[in-house]
Formats: sequence, C-alpha cells, structure tokens
Amino acid sequence: DLQAEIVAVGTELLLGQIANTNAQWLSQQLANQGVNVYRHTTVGDNLQRVQEAFKQAHERSDIVIVTGGLGPTEDDLTREAFQQLSHIPLVQHRPSMDKIQAYFEKQQAVMTPNNPKQARVFEGATVWLNPVGMAPGMKLTYDNCTWIFLPGVPREMKALVREYMIPALQQLLGKKEMIKSIVLKFTGIGESKLEHELQDIIHEQTNPTIAPLAQEEGIVIRLTAKSDTLQQADQLLEATKAKIFSRVGNYAYGEDHETLEGKVVGLLTEQEHTLATAESLTGGAFSEKISTVSGASSVLQGGIVSYTNRVKEHVLGVPKKVLETKGAVSKECAEEMAMQVANKLSSSIGIAFTGVAGPMEMEGKQVGTVYIAIYNPTGVSLVEKFLFQGDRNSIRRRTVLKGLELLYR
Ligand code: ATP
Ligand code: MG
Repeated sequence: DLQAEIVAVGTELLLGQIANTNAQWLSQQLANQGVNVYRHTTVGDNLQRVQEAFKQAHERSDIVIVTGGLGPTEDDLTREAFQQLSHIPLVQHRPSMDKIQAYFEKQQAVMTPNNPKQARVFEGATVWLNPVGMAPGMKLTYDNCTWIFLPGVPREMKALVREYMIPALQQLLGKKEMIKSIVLKFTGIGESKLEHELQDIIHEQTNPTIAPLAQEEGIVIRLTAKSDTLQQADQLLEATKAKIFSRVGNYAYGEDHETLEGKVVGLLTEQEHTLATAESLTGGAFSEKISTVSGASSVLQGGIVSYTNRVKEHVLGVPKKVLETKGAVSKECAEEMAMQVANKLSSSIGIAFTGVAGPMEMEGKQVGTVYIAIYNPTGVSLVEKFLFQGDRNSIRRRTVLKGLELLYR
C-alpha cells in the first residue's frame, strides 16, 4: 500500500487567512484513486521549515504532493527547499519560458527579473505544462519516493491534477482497472433520513461504494465503481443509482456539476415561466444565485430588495395595514410581497423572502423566523414558515436554498 502525504506551503494558510481547500480537494481525488493519504502537512513560507517538512515527508511517505510556493516571488520557496534536500539541479524549462514570454508580450508588460523563476524545473522531472497559468507542475522520483509539485492557485492545481496527475498515479499504481464515480444530489431531505432510507444498501454495497456527504447545498452521494472497462463501471453505477432512486428518487435533483439553481432555471424555462423576486432578509442573494446560471435572463425578470417597511409599502405596494397589524415578518406580508413583485415586474411567478436574520429578534419574532411565499396564479401558490438555526449568514443562506427548493418542488 502506497502512503501519500500532502504538503501545503503558505503562511496565509497558517494565519487562517485562507482555508486549505487544496488539501481537501486533493485528498478526495486521491481517495477516488484508492491512494491512502496518511498526512496533511501545512508549513509557512520559511525555507528552513519547508525543508524540514519535505525531509520528514520524504522519509515516511511514498508519494508526496506539494502545493504552493512555485510562483515568482521571494516567498515562493518550494523549489529552493526541495533542491537543498535532494541536490537535484534546477534547469530552465523552455516551453514554460516561452509561455511566460508570450504572456508578457501579449500584455505589453515588462517581465521582471524574477518571472523566469517560474519556468525552472528539476532536472529529470516530468514537467506538466500549466494550461491556465505560468508555473508548470512537476513529477519526479527521487530516492524511491514520488514527488509531485503543483501550483497553489486552486484553479491551476486542479487543471494539472485532472490532466496529468491522475493518469500518472494510475500508471504508478499499475492499475488496469477503471474507476469512475458520479455524484448524485438531493434536496429537501436531511442527511440522517437519507442515510436511514439507504442504510442496508450502503452497508451491502462494495462496488460501487456509496458515500453520502452533507454539504450546504444539500446532501450528495458519491458512487465510485471499479471495473475492467469503463462500460462495466457505468453499468454498475447505473444499477446502484436505480436502487437508490427507487427509495429516495423524489428528492434527487441532479448529478455531478449540476446545481439546484441551474435546475430551477431549467424547469422554469421549460414551463415558460418568468420570475420576479422580492427580498427582505436575503438582500438580493436569491436573485444573485439565480443570475449565476447562464440563461437566467430568459427567466429572471428582476427583483426588488425591499429591506425596509417603507420600501415594502411604497415601492412594492404591501398594504400599510398588513405591515401594521401583521408585521413585515409575517405570512401575509410574504404573500403580498410575492404577488406585488410579480405584478409590478410582469412575471408569471413571484417569490418573496421576509424574516429575521438576527442577531436581534424583530417584531417579537425569534431569530431565524423566515417566511417564503411563491405567487403563481396558474399553478401552486404557497407560503411557508421556517425556523432556521445558525448565525445571520447561515440563516440567509438557508433561506436562499429553501427558496430554490420550493421552486423546484
Ligand atoms: P503563484 O504563481 O500565484 O505565486 P504559487 O504556486 O506560488 O502560485 P502560492 O503563492 O502559494 O502558490 O499561492 C497562490 C494563491 O493560491 C494563494 O494566494 C491562495 O489564494 C491560493 N492557495 C495557495 N495554497 C492554497 C491551498 N492550500 N488551499 C487553497 N488555496 C490556496
Ligand atoms: Mg506565490
């Protein structure tokens, strides 16, 4: 069994300025390949400490994957540190150098003397040309240990992993077997309920493996199948998917990179509906979410962020009486908001959000109290009350997700 270790280089990680999402993502990729990750190491931009981290990783691991510190600046020390450990010389990588030069010519900028540093690679290493940035990735075997160097920028790191590192690992593992995984996405069902419904299937199943995971957008299940051929792996996945869907298919909305907002826009487009939003506690976040979908313009007409009662009354047209007698955080107000915004913006559906995001209660209503209304004169209109847990931001995020879920239902 090969033992892998991920070393993330960067003081900003230690300071907590950014989360080590590279290690998380890499670990998922390695797990999918059946590689055991034994350690995550994080080290700051300090030559001696990076070198120590490398030395320890080298002694205890078979595969070491390093992210970060490959850039042009003074604090990018990954190359120096590994060179001091291995004494492997650094040489200029012509294709990377050409790329850097071409970039500066295109930008009509002057290359600073430190830029060529990014094109320096270890002699004898397999060099992976960076498709989305400057610094290439590298793989080399040194003293029975496989070292992989990847840039710190997540987008660049991922591109190199997908294109080069995974095939290289499969070769390293001597795999003839094909691995394929899919992600099934669910909404409107909690993690424990989903796991309960699928308990026996999850336990019996070994190929594909079934791994449920709670994410903020809902629950996902990753299925990973291994087989001699991709076709067989696909068949295994399909069979298990069918089993899962026979129990909880009602809650499924998509696969892999599909998003709930994408599905909502797709559904409304299909039904030839248009949408307008009236947002209070979410402050426009729901519209923002919808607008991330390309093609949203055929559905989303616009929205009114009616944060204050004055705007609810004078811009949206919520009757004063509703605001005075029921309050802004009420079923009646949510219904009015949804109807008024649909009428004002001439959309077929209106959706409205009003509630208490906190930290203080409002109108005597508890923090987390949220009303969501959907006005749909030709279909199902509804208004629902929720009590969300968490801080201000998570209440707002949950509200947005619940809105999507209600529209998708
Ligand atoms: P660059 O060429 O941009 O300097 P680099 O290989 O030197 O790339 P770093 O300078 O260490 O990498 O990091 C670049 C950026 O990538 C950081 O500012 C940070 O936003 C992000 N980053 C680095 N390491 C990680 C990590 N482990 N997890 C998530 N993001 C990271
Ligand atoms: Mg850098």
